[in-house]
Amino acid sequence: MQPLREMEIGLMFWGEGDPVASLREVKSLGIRCGHLGIAGGVPLEGAAERWKAALQQEEFVVTSLVGSFNGENYADIPTVRQTVGYLPRSTRQEREERTYRLIELGAALGAPNYCCHAGYIPEDPSDEDYPALVELCRRISDYAARFGMNFALETGQEPPLVLRDFIQAVDRPNLKINFDPANIILYGVGDPIEALDILAPWVVSVHCKDGIWPPKDKPGALGTEKPLGQGEVGIERFIAKLKQIGYKGPLTIEREVESADQAERHVGGIPHRQDVRDAVALLERLRG
Ligand code: MG
Repeated sequence: MQPLREMEIGLMFWGEGDPVASLREVKSLGIRCGHLGIAGGVPLEGAAERWKAALQQEEFVVTSLVGSFNGENYADIPTVRQTVGYLPRSTRQEREERTYRLIELGAALGAPNYCCHAGYIPEDPSDEDYPALVELCRRISDYAARFGMNFALETGQEPPLVLRDFIQAVDRPNLKINFDPANIILYGVGDPIEALDILAPWVVSVHCKDGIWPPKDKPGALGTEKPLGQGEVGIERFIAKLKQIGYKGPLTIEREVESADQAERHVGGIPHRQDVRDAVALLERLRG
């Protein structure tokens, strides 16, 4: 296949059914690379062989393997804090083990990055979970390094300076960032463009996602995801800023909220195909 161009447009999609059918759905949107998400309940036995064969057949490139875990819940900020990533102690070890298997899957598919939400990094380094998360991220980074892969932390939920300081504390050359500008807004932790300036040295991939700020009168509420270009990220300035920092990797569209239109729902692990089509057109115009 033709090599990916600079700022190739990609899609974040979830591998849950037949890989060939899933890839054909993504390709029907004019996309030939993406972040492959593997949810916690998806069995991994035989997955590498099935996906590898499908990727070759469909000439599709996985640019990140994205993991999520059983029991994660994004209902509101307190629930995210209790359930997401490696912060909850009761699931920390099993999620670490699952992570190693996901890294192996990513490696088998030639993905340069393994990416996930680490969960809320404590803002106070003297928090007793902080050193445990530092050590855990060292182990995961080192495991990914065996395969020549990066371990990319997804932005949100913590403020950008907290994430920067955490990455410096972990101190591993392959610990990187998947920058999601919408999450910065949805969790109410900053301005996405300022955040990109702070985190630029570590950004190896991005999600092109949009959203609006949490309602001021509902403490703990998350903001609301919107179709690309209809939220408060400012996608034009986001793409301009990516160019300014010299980012050349894929622009991976992410749309998480399910469409209300049944016919649009979750075909091939894609929640909202018309929004993705519109996002492709918008990004083609902005990247030039
Ligand atoms: Mg994302």
